[in-house]
Amino acid sequence: MTAELKLRERIVDIGRSLYRRGLSPGSSGNISARLENGWLLTPTNSCLGELDPGTLSKLDWNGTLISGAKPSKESFLHLAMYQKRLQSGAIVHLHSSYAAAVSCLDGLDSASCIPPITPYFVMRVGKLPLIPYFRPGDKALAAEIAKHADTHTAVLLANHGPLVSGNDLDSAMYAIEELEETSKLMLLLHGQKIRTLEAAQIQELRETFGAQWES
Ligand code: ZN
Repeated sequence: MTAELKLRERIVDIGRSLYRRGLSPGSSGNISARLENGWLLTPTNSCLGELDPGTLSKLDWNGTLISGAKPSKESFLHLAMYQKRLQSGAIVHLHSSYAAAVSCLDGLDSASCIPPITPYFVMRVGKLPLIPYFRPGDKALAAEIAKHADTHTAVLLANHGPLVSGNDLDSAMYAIEELEETSKLMLLLHGQKIRTLEAAQIQELRETFGAQWES
């Protein structure tokens, strides 16, 4: 099996897994993976639970369709992140409930929307900047994502949802699930006094695990 075929099948498996667990309702969410000669993306108006490896969209680095079905209308979000993150092999974007709920909160710290409440969030996601609201499809979103993508693995789009990169498909999936679970904790803790990790504890995670949490 070629590397591309393996990636196509893994995108289908991950899509089904996310859909079955309620993380990508309807036709929301999209998954992409870097190839040697372009990148793969889930098609527009597709349900992540019912993807076909043979019809995934294959694009070049200008975002032009090379083969497969018409790509997701959110392809430019992925492209903006890949162009700044040459080390990232995959990206997952969801409208998952808890992260989307956090993205609607007023008064978020735009440099770090979710406080460092668990070491796993710090290690797997890192500091999460907020991207201001733009209407769906507005290309201005790409410029805002580009501002943060070289120094952050994930961003949260205001009133929308998370966009998370990883070295490969599995690490991107695990990271966006960690983000979703930490969003849930943040909402459960809303209104209560929270003990966040201290600066020295975050520094320890940076030194031990390479966590991306620049001070
Ligand atoms: Zn979206």
